[in-house]
Amino acid sequence: MAMPTQQKYPLMIHKPIFRILDLCCGDGGSAVGYAKALEALGYKVEILGIDIERMEDYPYFFIQDDVVDFIERTPYEWFQQFDLIHASPPCQWASITRELAIAQGNLPSDINIMPEIRIFLKQGDIPYVIENVVKAWACERCNSLRMRGEKAIPGCKECKEVRKPHTILCGSSFDLAVQRHRMFETSFPIEKLPCNHKTDSWPIGPKGKPKPIGIYHSLNDYVGMTKWKRWDEGGRKGPEPTLGGWTAKTLEEAQQAMGISHISKWKRLKEAIPPAYTEHIAKCFIDWRDKQPKPKAQVQEKKMLDAN
Ligand SMILES: [Zn+2]
Ligand SMILES: [Zn+2]
Repeated sequence: MAMPTQQKYPLMIHKPIFRILDLCCGDGGSAVGYAKALEALGYKVEILGIDIERMEDYPYFFIQDDVVDFIERTPYEWFQQFDLIHASPPCQWASITRELAIAQGNLPSDINIMPEIRIFLKQGDIPYVIENVVKAWACERCNSLRMRGEKAIPGCKECKEVRKPHTILCGSSFDLAVQRHRMFETSFPIEKLPCNHKTDSWPIGPKGKPKPIGIYHSLNDYVGMTKWKRWDEGGRKGPEPTLGGWTAKTLEEAQQAMGISHISKWKRLKEAIPPAYTEHIAKCFIDWRDKQPKPKAQVQEKKMLDAN
C-alpha cells in the first residue's frame, strides 16, 4: 500500500490565536493596526469591539453597549480570555479642538469614563493599552480646572510628571500626512519614536514649512482661525492655520492621511487613530511578551510558530 502523500493529507498547522478586547472601539482604526501587525507575525487574530454607538464600518466582532456598564456587570474571568485590552475612552472633554467646537456651535461631550476604565485595567493582570489625547493625562488641579470649563495651568510641571511614564506617538514618525499626537499608557514598554515635523509627508504650509493635514470637525475646514491673515499659496485661500494645519478637503484625502481605508464616514474617521500607531504597539507587545518567562504550553506554541 502506497503511503499517503502530504498533498492529500495536509499538515494541520496550528496558528496561535491572539484575542483583543477593544473598548470604546470607534470604527476600528486601532483594531486594524493590531490585526495587521499580529497577522504578519503569524497569529490568527480575533478582536471584539465594544462601543456605546453603533459602528457600521467596524471590521470585527462588535457589541453595542455602554463600556462602563459592561465592565461592571461582567465577571473578570470573562476578560481573561483576551491577550490584550485596548481602550480609547471618549476624549472631547480634553481635546485641543474643544474651544473651536464650541465656537462653531457644536457642544463637545463632557463624558469622561477614562478614570473608571483606568482603574479596571490597572487592578487586573491582563496587558492593556489606554489611548487618548495628551491632555487627558493631567494633574488633579488641572483636571478639575478643565472639568469646570476653565483653562489648565500653562506649562504645568505636575502634569509633565503625570505624563512622563507614557508614550506619545505622532503621524510624522510613520510618514503619515497627519500629526495626531496621541498618548499611550501601557502595561508593557513601547519603543518611543521621535517626531519628524520636517517630514516630506506633510504639505508645505504658509511659512514655507511642512504643516500636517487636519482631520477635525468638518471637511475642508480651517482649524484655529485666530489669525485672519490671507494666504493663497498652493491654491488654498483663507486664514492662516495656526493650530493643526489644513483640514482635509475630501474623505479620500483624509483616509490617505490617516492610513485608513475601511472607514467611510468623516464623523468616524475624525475620531480614529492611524492604524500605524497600534501596529507599532503590537510589535512592541510581542517583543516584550517573548522576553517574559513562559509556561511550557506557550513555549511549545512559539516553537510551532517559528517553524511555520
Ligand atoms: Zn497640571
Ligand atoms: Zn509629532
